[in-house]
Amino acid sequence: MRTELMLIVGVVCLMFMAAGVATAAGEAPRFRGLTIGAATREDVVKLLGQPKYGDPAKDEKLVYDSTRAGQVDELTFEGEPKRLACVEAATPPEGLAARAEIVGRLGEPEYELRLGRQTMLEYSQRGMRLWVDNKTGATIGAALFPPQEYPRVPVGELRRVTVPPIPRPSKGEPARFQVGIASRLILPPPGMQADPRYTKVHDDLEVRCVVIAAGGKTVAIAAGDIFVFTAYEIGPIQEGARALGVDYLLFASTHSHSAPDGIGLDIPHADEYDAFVQRQAVACIEEAKRNLTPATIQVSQTELMLDGAHVALVARNWRDPGIVWPYLTVVRFVTADAKQQPLGTLVHFTCHPERLARYDNAISSDWVGPMRKTVEAALGGMCVFVNGPLGGMVSPDEIPGSEPFADTQRIGEWIGARAVEAVRAGASPIKEGQIRVRLRPLLIPLVNEKIVALREKGWMKGPLVRGSQSTQVGRLDIGELQVLAIPGELLPDLGFRARAKMTGRLNVIVGLANDEIGYIIPAWDYHVGQYEEMTGVGPSSGPQVMDAAEEIVRGNAPGFMEKARTGGRRAKPGG
Ligand SMILES: [Zn+2]
Repeated sequence: MRTELMLIVGVVCLMFMAAGVATAAGEAPRFRGLTIGAATREDVVKLLGQPKYGDPAKDEKLVYDSTRAGQVDELTFEGEPKRLACVEAATPPEGLAARAEIVGRLGEPEYELRLGRQTMLEYSQRGMRLWVDNKTGATIGAALFPPQEYPRVPVGELRRVTVPPIPRPSKGEPARFQVGIASRLILPPPGMQADPRYTKVHDDLEVRCVVIAAGGKTVAIAAGDIFVFTAYEIGPIQEGARALGVDYLLFASTHSHSAPDGIGLDIPHADEYDAFVQRQAVACIEEAKRNLTPATIQVSQTELMLDGAHVALVARNWRDPGIVWPYLTVVRFVTADAKQQPLGTLVHFTCHPERLARYDNAISSDWVGPMRKTVEAALGGMCVFVNGPLGGMVSPDEIPGSEPFADTQRIGEWIGARAVEAVRAGASPIKEGQIRVRLRPLLIPLVNEKIVALREKGWMKGPLVRGSQSTQVGRLDIGELQVLAIPGELLPDLGFRARAKMTGRLNVIVGLANDEIGYIIPAWDYHVGQYEEMTGVGPSSGPQVMDAAEEIVRGNAPGFMEKARTGGRRAKPGG
């Protein structure tokens, strides 16, 4: 009787807990019986037992096995005393195991992001972002956090964004290009002071470059294991490339946070080291151009399935949990002869290389090095890596308590293995042997007092035009592959909006391309004083960059390789 009663009470409690999920706006969400914002680490251990990873006595993140095989639930704690602040779970919250249940209990989402394979339903006023599988409708990931007073995406903004699915690999006769690849070390040479915070080298820093030519046009995509370079530091590399006959150079920093600060953010401007990197980069482009050889290009692209509102235990978003960039692209270059020998790959993935973040005062490329090695070992040739819309704040999803170098290796190898899988799953040859470039110059008002102060101190450099920073958005089309070159760190949310409008058959957004204007944040999500806002140029960079991106992908921007516009201009000034 007593047991029965307890059972009934238990069932009623469970029903109450399940019903408790569909709370009114403002009430904290619950997960596996824990209330966000209230549960302590002790409460968690009492209910869920010892975690798979993490020490409940000290770590801010505890990782548990999910109820779905091979996947995990991550619980993050904040504040003093520590309380459960965020859950990123592969286990669906009670009563929200599928799209129909979610919409039935919570109503239509405030914001819906539909990708090819999965869809995010956002209820920020209830503290939830839920990812569902487009095919089955099943919940595959949940991010739970303290409810926000107002919807993150406000009324009046686009509340439903649809990014078209990645096209299936295609067949057909590949076009012929000329392709050359090269690399140069950019470790500070002995005796050269680059950044006094480093006392040793863990692994090499390199600049790597692929030069592609077709139809009389030559472009270069170069990537440096650099923390960040702005247009000021990239300028001499651009000049060097132009002198070598390169029509357009896309130079991107991989954004390693264990590389020297070259722009004067934390230390005075590293003039000598920057000049060295610039020389090495130009030498790298020159060698890549010398290596030009007849080649074909194949593109493999994949949308990785999320399994807990993150990309595996690899990439998560700690500004807006659950909003990550699941695309992975591999552009493969092989010789155009019958042998089809591998020349190399260009890999694009989106995540801050900051697992190490100057750990042990050691210089490192972070997870980028192990990723490139994994790809090279499997596919041959040299691997060049460029980053994506990683802003605010797509970062490595570390295993709590792990050895940092080993964990960095794990992340790099995981990304590399997915890149290899993507190639083995199929590729589309580039069939149009044409290269086109369009640029859209921008002047963005610099209103960030922190950056203004660093410039006044002479640490950060570069010209301003009447208080505005001159930058540009670029579009590079290599046949059916469209590359959008964004001069900073686009928030993924803006990335999805930009990608939805891109017009290539295959599309890629490269971040920190030819400039670094900091985080590029939606105006409607701009919160003065928040971390990401403190590093950007100002609140207008989001709308300005998005405007330019939209124009440029529609084609309404000057293609600098096209003929000059003359319509409407008088033949002679005053004539
Ligand atoms: Zn960053």
